[in-house]
Amino acid sequence: MTTTAIESALARVRDRIADAAHTAGRNPRDVSLIAVSKAHPQTSAYSALTAGHRTFGENRVQEATAKWPELRQRFADIDLHLIGPLQTNKVADAVALFDVIQTLDRERLARALAREFERQDRTPALFVQVNTGEEGQKAGVLPGSADAFIAQCRSEYGLPIAGLMCIPPARDDPEPHFAMLATIAARNGVSRLSMGMSADFETAIGLGATEVRVGTAIFGTRPAP
Ligand SMILES: *Cc1c(COP(=O)(O)O)cnc(C)c1O
Repeated sequence: MTTTAIESALARVRDRIADAAHTAGRNPRDVSLIAVSKAHPQTSAYSALTAGHRTFGENRVQEATAKWPELRQRFADIDLHLIGPLQTNKVADAVALFDVIQTLDRERLARALAREFERQDRTPALFVQVNTGEEGQKAGVLPGSADAFIAQCRSEYGLPIAGLMCIPPARDDPEPHFAMLATIAARNGVSRLSMGMSADFETAIGLGATEVRVGTAIFGTRPAP
């Protein structure tokens, strides 16, 4: 898409976020828009940056490593979120590049992150991903294990948990999944909720989302891999 098209799509999404927040009796400032630039070229991210946007999401460490260091040199205040699965052999790269890692979902990864935080003296904010739909192929801790896992991250590995993240099953009504994530967050004293994508971010805002992850509605359809 052209720079102008991305700029107006961003403005449209921001308006929709503000409307959804007002409808929910919330302050739009409490909802952060993560522009998901995965699978789109560096030029698309650059267009969003020149339009004033600074918060982005990528789902692959390798792709992000190729795309973002150069952009970071030009724009100092980028806030980059990892929203895809993290393999332990990519932890060093992820900790070096991302400001937020949203996909913590297993003990091995918690241990690797804690070690790498110390080694690099860098501490990206962490979100625990919850597999609210209990889908076999999907990443995330099961809802029944979430409390214990969050407690373990905190006490055993000294990792502060800033938020929770979920990706509801594509065919489900997302509402109960968002509500479940909000409930788990509340009872664990976790304040940030990453939920809602292009198709359902308004619903997520109604249920307390503090970060919505929007790709297609900003950058258009992703090119085939
Ligand atoms: C791709 C992706 C998104 C964005 O999806 P859209 O439907 O394009 O808005 C959000 N969250 C995650 C985890 C993703 O992988």
